[in-house]
Amino acid sequence: MSERELVVLGTASQAPTRSRNHNGYLLLWDGEGLLFDPGEGTQRQMLFAGVTASQITRICITHFHGDHCLGLPGVLQRMSLDRVPHVVEACYPAENRDVFARLRHAALFRDALDLRERPVEGVGTVIQVAPFRLAAEPLSHGVPAVGYRLVEPDGRRMLPDKLAARGITGPDVGRLQRQGHLAVGDQVVTLEQVSEPRRGQRFAFIMDTRLCDAAFALADGADMVVCESTFADAEAALAREYGHLTAGQAGRIAAESGARLLVLTHFSQRYDSSDGQRLATEAAMAFGGEVVLAHDLDRIPLPPRRPPATPVTAR
Ligand SMILES: [Zn+2]
Repeated sequence: MSERELVVLGTASQAPTRSRNHNGYLLLWDGEGLLFDPGEGTQRQMLFAGVTASQITRICITHFHGDHCLGLPGVLQRMSLDRVPHVVEACYPAENRDVFARLRHAALFRDALDLRERPVEGVGTVIQVAPFRLAAEPLSHGVPAVGYRLVEPDGRRMLPDKLAARGITGPDVGRLQRQGHLAVGDQVVTLEQVSEPRRGQRFAFIMDTRLCDAAFALADGADMVVCESTFADAEAALAREYGHLTAGQAGRIAAESGARLLVLTHFSQRYDSSDGQRLATEAAMAFGGEVVLAHDLDRIPLPPRRPPATPVTAR
């Protein structure tokens, strides 16, 4: 089974606390490492979490408030220092190209990293590769901000017993997968006869925003939604004024989008660890799925694939 998990590097919004570093999330997805919103201290948090700069293949920034990007200079410099050999793509709101440029060259260093910028304009696909499609949608915050959605295409899972029954082994399995059919003796075996539908997995990353349609669209049918919940429901007015979500609203997004696992993060410094249960409970009152309150250095696995027959959305 391939490794798909979220490594939580930090969970604080505006100001870090003794127990929470600024934001930072590394999504490990098979051989890829997508680094979301590296806040200040991300480089050191990676060390504590046991992940390396070489594991980063793409960087996604939702917006350029400091808690989501001040770790970028250090991370890029470290990737250069470590001579990361592969191409690294960086996505961010296109309106703030200048801010990205400043962060990229905030300090003097020998820049050896092959970094390709992918500024995000409007709604749509940002990166399309065989294993997944990464899409973005604008969110509702005080500055240009986007959320991200990673979608694995649906595929087919080969059934070993059915392959064995027809005597198909070795390179013939790959041939059958590529061609969709295979001549075995005087018969033709089709892919459908020896496999079953396999639902692609979906991941959504929703940071600083008011409640908006885009948040629901990003989370649609997601296996894991990482969602900001800066405030408790009692501070709903503050949340709206500053362009943030409450824990209950995060729960509503997950519920109405038919998501499965909701990861709450980006907490206001006004809450300490004793308030965590309250935030999780408020989200759970709106959402019947699993709610996880993120802690720094947590590793949260993506849930197993949905069974083929399960409807993807609740709507
Ligand atoms: Zn923030």
